[in-house]
Amino acid sequence: MADVTGCLQPLSGCQSYLTKLLVVSILFTMKKVIQLQLLPSEEQADLLEHTMRQFNKACDWLAGHAFDRRCANRYALQKLYYTELRERFGLKAQQGVLACAAVGAAYARDKTKRVHFRPDAALPFDARLWRPLSMSEVSMSTLKGRIRVPFLMGTYQAEQWADLRIYAKLVRRKDGKWFLLVCVESTDEDVGDPGDFLGIDLGVENIAVDSDGEMHTSESVEHVREKRMNLTQQLQSKADTKPNAKARKALRRKLKRVSGREANFRRHTNHCIAKHTVAKAKGTNRGIVLEDLKGIRDRIRFRKPQRARMSSWSFAQLREFMAYKAQQAGVFLAVIDPRNSSRTCAECGHCDKGNRRSQAEFCCRRCGHSDHADVNAARNLRATALCKQAELLDASPCFQAAAG
Ligand SMILES: [Zn+2]
Repeated sequence: MADVTGCLQPLSGCQSYLTKLLVVSILFTMKKVIQLQLLPSEEQADLLEHTMRQFNKACDWLAGHAFDRRCANRYALQKLYYTELRERFGLKAQQGVLACAAVGAAYARDKTKRVHFRPDAALPFDARLWRPLSMSEVSMSTLKGRIRVPFLMGTYQAEQWADLRIYAKLVRRKDGKWFLLVCVESTDEDVGDPGDFLGIDLGVENIAVDSDGEMHTSESVEHVREKRMNLTQQLQSKADTKPNAKARKALRRKLKRVSGREANFRRHTNHCIAKHTVAKAKGTNRGIVLEDLKGIRDRIRFRKPQRARMSSWSFAQLREFMAYKAQQAGVFLAVIDPRNSSRTCAECGHCDKGNRRSQAEFCCRRCGHSDHADVNAARNLRATALCKQAELLDASPCFQAAAG
């Protein structure tokens, strides 16, 4: 998952009608994790398992010595124990180095508690220990030599595959399936200065509305969601009332599957919206301006049926997708505090609670301008970004430096 850290930067001196807006710039370290399902043969699975156990045994042994010495410095540990570590546990040179790093990291925060490594803890791989051979096969180093393991990759993962791969971790899930979690860093285009902005308002009735008036409604999404929710509720009540324990267990399993499908569906929808928005901004040489999501749940007062929708939609995920897709495409992206953007007129700047007649309808009490409320809000975001363009771009070196 991309690591997105927002840094608050209040700016002063803007004479805009939305003077209370705080401009927030966002720092990106564009690292993402791609999950590949490995399909090892039985023999290969045994080798992976053996390597994993041996490595963790080595880490646990080293963690004991590190604890005795209260030492969290990986290089110091390497100097003291590297040779013995390799001899005792039969580790490859690079695995010895990684074991020292893992133990050092485990004590980085607290040296006063003895750390233990589970036998099936994730096994780290760096560039010398693994390498992709194709879009479906990876070469991995085990304690008994290299093996070529086939893997499965989805289209979403394949899209990120061109990015720089840094390191990977091998994990075995409880169900016995093997996964390689690959951390990638984006190979991004330079973020150029935008001539204009595309404001994006995030909301409940409409997931995303841009300042051109284009809407991604939650209607179709909601249909699927409601269907799923009904199914979930049915299964839940059945699972609670079934007298037979075996039947209850089967229902719970089904429940888990259904909720997993919903998460996938949300992820896919967010992915599509983000992709479309970034392509549109890129095609029209505009930057993207999003609203800060902090307090979005408190800010908007929901009618009851909306609450279920809102809490189940992942706006943080949508924003994160937009952020890294924008970064990859070289599209400038800023996040600003949307205070008053829903009650301010995008035409004349009059700010009044009464401007917003209903959830969907905006009508200015001063100039009579009327528009869809979300479109009006998105236009305000764009206007604010234009007004603060100099400051936003000034903040952008930190945005670029952090990414690079
Ligand atoms: Zn007005």
